[in-house]
Amino acid sequence: MNVLTKKNIKKSVKIAGLLVGACILTQGISREFFSEKIKSTEDLVRIIKQEESLIRRDNIPRTIYLTYGRTEWGTAGSGSLGKGKYIIIIDKERNRTVIRHELYHVYAGHCDKAVEKGNWDGWKDRVRDEFKARMYADFGLRL
Ligand SMILES: [Zn+2]
Repeated sequence: MNVLTKKNIKKSVKIAGLLVGACILTQGISREFFSEKIKSTEDLVRIIKQEESLIRRDNIPRTIYLTYGRTEWGTAGSGSLGKGKYIIIIDKERNRTVIRHELYHVYAGHCDKAVEKGNWDGWKDRVRDEFKARMYADFGLRL
């Protein structure tokens, strides 16, 4: 019978830490080395179409505009441009995983929520939404 001792708890925490570390490492490796690179606008449009068909779970019409560039918060971003209209901004060195990440923000309603709240400054929203988008982009998990 296992007893919840300090030693067992410490051992469990260490194992959990190793698992989290392994997940983060795996995520970074998969994103940077195994994800399809976007080499052209044709690649970008094709990948968006493919990934949209996988993430879409409703028939709500959405128009997603794409542009190359950098955002003030990083090399990729997404946002709402009004009802049913969104924008995804990426620099030219991105890949399929990044597109999956940004599409998750659009389809999970993160962009709409940011507009409703007036901004996206709440750190709880930011941490939660980023975590969910990463889990989807890297592991296909819808949280
Ligand atoms: Zn994000």
